[in-house]
Amino acid sequence: MKALLGYAWVPPQVFGDGWTVPLFGKSRRKGQDQTQTQQPLLEEVSAHEFSLKLSYSAKSSESVRLKGGQEMARRLQSMLFGYVQGESELVEPLPVELGQATPFIASMPGSAQWLKYHHNRSPVTRHALVVLELVDAVDPVFETLVVGLLDGQVDTVGYPDYNAIVGGVASHWDEMTGDVIVRALVGWGGKGVRGDTDRNASRILSGLFINVAGDNHAIGTVVVDRPQPAVGPGGVVCAHCGFSSGHERAFYCPKCGMRMSRA
Ligand SMILES: [Zn+2]
Repeated sequence: MKALLGYAWVPPQVFGDGWTVPLFGKSRRKGQDQTQTQQPLLEEVSAHEFSLKLSYSAKSSESVRLKGGQEMARRLQSMLFGYVQGESELVEPLPVELGQATPFIASMPGSAQWLKYHHNRSPVTRHALVVLELVDAVDPVFETLVVGLLDGQVDTVGYPDYNAIVGGVASHWDEMTGDVIVRALVGWGGKGVRGDTDRNASRILSGLFINVAGDNHAIGTVVVDRPQPAVGPGGVVCAHCGFSSGHERAFYCPKCGMRMSRA
């Protein structure tokens, strides 16, 4: 018995091929078939699968041209009347140095900038910004937003459900005239979709648009392209906020509404 133990107990790692213990002290030669049984093919691995389907949507109305003036913020906020539940919040364009801020969490340092800049806002506002920015429905660099909860519920810590509808209005200053260009917009989404959300969103968007077009200083609807920052010569940089206008004859900054000065 003692003699048997003497050669049967061999630490397997000595032979470097797993738990194969050589019989009678002889090392077995590794054959082709033996290799296959020891290393299962990749298809044989049983996998636990994980997935998450996120869905975000938004709708935007036509734009309405308004005469700018005093109390623009109050006028924008009043355009949510009849639809906003609770408070609305004004979100001014991002500071120039935060032009890369983004709610895409993996995108550093933009996501850190985004969180730092927006962390004091309400959960509804942050949710609205995430939805509207992820689907590219707004340009946070030059548009002023007024957003709130428009339909549905929030959870116990104040975040809207996936089928809640958020939004309000987005505005910017027209470069040529200094008028204010305003459009209504709604957004929703998250971990799920519900069949009637799209229809509710359309109904609310129509109501908001009527509010926008009903502003005392409304001139009419306009088709506007988004102002793009200038990339070539001819653009004018706003002395007040640093926004680069793509239009060489811009008179008013689309971001802050101040008159552009030329050198
Ligand atoms: Zn400006």
